[in-house]
Amino acid sequence: MNVAVGARTDTGRVREGNEDSYLAEPPLFAVADGMGGHLAGDVASATAVEVIRKERKDLSPDDPDSLAAMLQHANEAIWDRAQSDPGLRGMGTTCTLALVDEQVAQLAHVGDSRAYLLRDGQLTQVTQDHTLVGRMVSEGRLSPEDAEHHPQRSIITRALGVDANVDIDVMTLELAEGDRLLLCSDGLSAMVGADAIRGVLESLADPQQAADELVDSANEAGGEDNVTVVVIDVGRDGTGAAPPPVPEGQTGPITRGDTDPATDTDYQRAVEVPPGPGKRRWLRTLVLAAIALLILGGGGIAAARYALSNSWFVGVDDAGLVTIYRGIPDDVAGVSLRETHHRSDVRLASLPDFKRDEVASGITVDSLEEAERTVADLELLSADRDFETRTNQKKGDQ
Ligand code: CA
Repeated sequence: MNVAVGARTDTGRVREGNEDSYLAEPPLFAVADGMGGHLAGDVASATAVEVIRKERKDLSPDDPDSLAAMLQHANEAIWDRAQSDPGLRGMGTTCTLALVDEQVAQLAHVGDSRAYLLRDGQLTQVTQDHTLVGRMVSEGRLSPEDAEHHPQRSIITRALGVDANVDIDVMTLELAEGDRLLLCSDGLSAMVGADAIRGVLESLADPQQAADELVDSANEAGGEDNVTVVVIDVGRDGTGAAPPPVPEGQTGPITRGDTDPATDTDYQRAVEVPPGPGKRRWLRTLVLAAIALLILGGGGIAAARYALSNSWFVGVDDAGLVTIYRGIPDDVAGVSLRETHHRSDVRLASLPDFKRDEVASGITVDSLEEAERTVADLELLSADRDFETRTNQKKGDQ
């Protein structure tokens, strides 16, 4: 097969571990960017690559759906693992998968990793980002330029492993000799602009040198995230440097530092997935214990309510509407310790499956501002929002 490959993954300059995984075993190539914090992100992306590697022998090259089936199986494997291990709950991963021969590249894709095509000096993003801002761009509500700097650009709307089912994009690309494909995680695309990426891909003929230079560029720009790139040259017989050996179960280091969610930008990505049994649950247990002591110690319910006057959570009211409450979600000794602060228009039923349980059990937040941001995020996720947009457009047409 006439392709030459270069690939590299790097932790970057800020993160303590690498949650990206990749596969570069012609004709199959993949980049997976795990999320979930602690060990979970590593496990999710490594599981995706494991499933792809294991199932590669069953692949039928003429059937684009067989690539999508691989990602469905990866989704099931990650989901099952997350269900059976509480420490891994909420983990997920992006995956951009390509099957490449001289004439055609077939792609299957979920999340915000990307595939680019360089042809005749033009760089084109082939995949669509499954992010909130990506959706806003495709609806014409945000320009691609503004999207690059949008504060919520890292919130993804689809990932493998966060739900029992997942929608997978598939596409087929006709290839010409001299085409160069790039698969990358957002650690590259968020740090290095498309023009600079194109510059590197154009100036370095050797795919491994190009891969190395792209990773170096991301690190020079700050290296705020794990970065992974796979560069595939079509119509070349491996005259470039040999692809690097891919160790069994290719992942970053499996040990990951216990990063503080406040400084971990991937935590923001987790807005879209159920939270793990992290600090919040601990905090809730502590608060409950303190409140119970207060009530039982004779302070009474009024004192308990007062102690909770600066506690906030987002939950759901009796009518099924997402609501900001002052207080805590749990009853203590049969006493409800919450009062309604603001009822939104977002219906619980309009939220994606994986978000519903979390909201129904109450999302504890640190401030009213955070509660308002949470509701705004949920509003964007709500299926009703699309309906509203459509009706408003219709109104505008009249
Ligand atoms: Ca990333």
